[in-house]
Amino acid sequence: MGSPAPPSVTSQPKAIVILMDGIPADVLESVDTPTIDAISAEGGYRRGYVGGTIGAPSESPTISAVGYQTMLTGTWANKHNVYNNDIEAPNYAYWDFFRIAKTANPQLKTALFSTWEDNRTKLLGDGLAEAGGHKLDYFYDGLEHQTAAYPHDAEANYIKAIDQAVAEDAVRHIKNEAPDLSWLYLQYTDDVGHALGDSEPLRQAVADMDNLLSELWQTIISRADAHNEDWLVLVTTDHGRDAKTGKHHGAQSARERTIWIAANHPQLDTSKVRDAAMVDILPTLLEHLQIKAPTKVAEQLDGRSLLIAP
Ligand SMILES: [Zn+2]
Repeated sequence: MGSPAPPSVTSQPKAIVILMDGIPADVLESVDTPTIDAISAEGGYRRGYVGGTIGAPSESPTISAVGYQTMLTGTWANKHNVYNNDIEAPNYAYWDFFRIAKTANPQLKTALFSTWEDNRTKLLGDGLAEAGGHKLDYFYDGLEHQTAAYPHDAEANYIKAIDQAVAEDAVRHIKNEAPDLSWLYLQYTDDVGHALGDSEPLRQAVADMDNLLSELWQTIISRADAHNEDWLVLVTTDHGRDAKTGKHHGAQSARERTIWIAANHPQLDTSKVRDAAMVDILPTLLEHLQIKAPTKVAEQLDGRSLLIAP
């Protein structure tokens, strides 16, 4: 007669989404990216799209802040109302994933690590009553305004340095605090793309950014083992680039609309049966974290979870 089975211990679900700016899928797939490969090996990798439906009300420019808000709210621009990087009047009626998480369970810890401060102050509207008040327990951003420490240069080397500081802070914070839901935003690849287009420096920037994620990935593996945490690590980009030069984006060409999603979740749907869209990321995070959005918010979502039954 054997011993009774031990009681099942439920691991604590946690999620981080990492957005690497403006990396075309064909570039990512042709560069050696051992960290993203390691993450994908635990789950999967697939292409997807941004830009909504061409010719329909949801058509959304393939512009950076438009894509971020699409990811954060799970809706296209005709709902969240961010059509460019000026972010003049976001419609906060479409809740971001931090607001949904905090409303579902105020005990959940949230964090933002970002090379661009507007992500917090404008897109998330953190602290604004109409955007749900304070939703972030921790943030690390605004370094682009510290011009003494990070003197601005035409080659955007200061952005590369800020990306590194931001990624290092994410490692520190996750190692110590393990927030339940966090977003890491890295920018330098888009600067190189705008300056040089499809080029060896862009490929090198992609390889360097993948390397920036290495310690973070190792930290998460260590935490998951030591603390019985079940981490979803999802890496993506906000848009591709034009086919002719690789310098531009914003229009609706196939290369600009194509994004990619890498995640360590074994239930990530990598089949070709369905498309994957930027709006699917929010429902994927919520499913992993076992969070339900309020009905009025859930009814407005434009995507659905990318996780399939085991
Ligand atoms: Zn971008």
